[in-house]
Amino acid sequence: MKLGGNAAYVIEATTEQELQQAYINAQTLQQQTYIIGGGSNLIAHDEGFNGVIILNKIKGIEIISDDNEFTIIKAKSGESWDDLVAFSVSKNLTGIEAMSRIPGTVGAAPVQNIGAYGQELADTFETLEAYDIENNRFVSLKRDDCDFSYRHSIFRGNAANKFAITSVTLKLYKKPPQPPFYDSLQKHLDKLGINEYTPLAIRDAVTVIRSNKLPDPKVVPNSGSFFKNAIVEQWQIESLKSTHQDIPIFPMDEKHSKVPAGWLIEQCDLKGISLHGIKVHEGNAVVLINESATSYNDLSAARDEIIGAVRDKFQINLQQEPLEI
Ligand code: NAP
Repeated sequence: MKLGGNAAYVIEATTEQELQQAYINAQTLQQQTYIIGGGSNLIAHDEGFNGVIILNKIKGIEIISDDNEFTIIKAKSGESWDDLVAFSVSKNLTGIEAMSRIPGTVGAAPVQNIGAYGQELADTFETLEAYDIENNRFVSLKRDDCDFSYRHSIFRGNAANKFAITSVTLKLYKKPPQPPFYDSLQKHLDKLGINEYTPLAIRDAVTVIRSNKLPDPKVVPNSGSFFKNAIVEQWQIESLKSTHQDIPIFPMDEKHSKVPAGWLIEQCDLKGISLHGIKVHEGNAVVLINESATSYNDLSAARDEIIGAVRDKFQINLQQEPLEI
């Protein structure tokens, strides 16, 4: 978001050993630590970080196994997520192609169980390796250990800042992508007359859709979706439907449904509006852009006004998606 103060120290780790050494040194010097990948999903406070920021630059992608149905790929956590998607697509593998062009690193992907256009990391996740900071040892975690749910995992919950993820292993399919696809994706494929669904066709379509709707964080300061979609209970849905007949609702399980945060914000007439130098993106109201804000306080004031407007109109409490430091 182009906000926030400085860090006292920054160190780059290019191998697991350098990463471990960085944590040991910080502990010896009684410095707090925080590991980041690309940093695009992180909001920094104005006072900065009085400790050691560890920049994850541990790179490498390898094929672990390959049979008629599946290919298992292991990627080091400092790889760009989109480079991993490109690699998978170049091998004609299915499973992560709809998550094309998501900014950030492979190591950040499990933290919020990234997802887009109906795919999420947990669907293809096999295992990950991580450095257990407190116990100074490397561990391997399976899917159940990570407790993945909608844009969530233990790494944002109970285990926040306890592990530094060093690699992620995914099990990808040889079979082509299977419809049904999200409406916006299907419409784009239809428009191009594509009816042979290859991983590359899906990646190309998602690339175009995203570039039309989402600002590039390298050009315009933003953190992607600033709010998580609202998860509401069935009884609330009934009451919302009675007042807002056109509300988009996506059932998740028997008791819960998802309502897009962008739609809720748009209904409060906030799309395209600037608050404290923060603009609600014209193309997608779930994205906030830093137009002219100079402090974290500007951002938090804008965020709180948006959350308040949605709460007043819908009695729904939006949750912030990016992490804070
Ligand atoms: P969209 O296609 O206009 O849809 C709006 C919202 O409705 C999405 O958030 C999506 O939830 C939900 N939705 C749409 N069709 C659905 C279906 N068939 N089943 C279940 N849920 C459905 O969305 P958009 O805002 O342009 O985003 C497109 C995709 O990119 C979404 O999957 C979104 O999550 C992802 N995205 C992620 C970020 C990020 O920073 N994390 C930013 C922008 C977009 P879901 O969000 O659960 O998919």
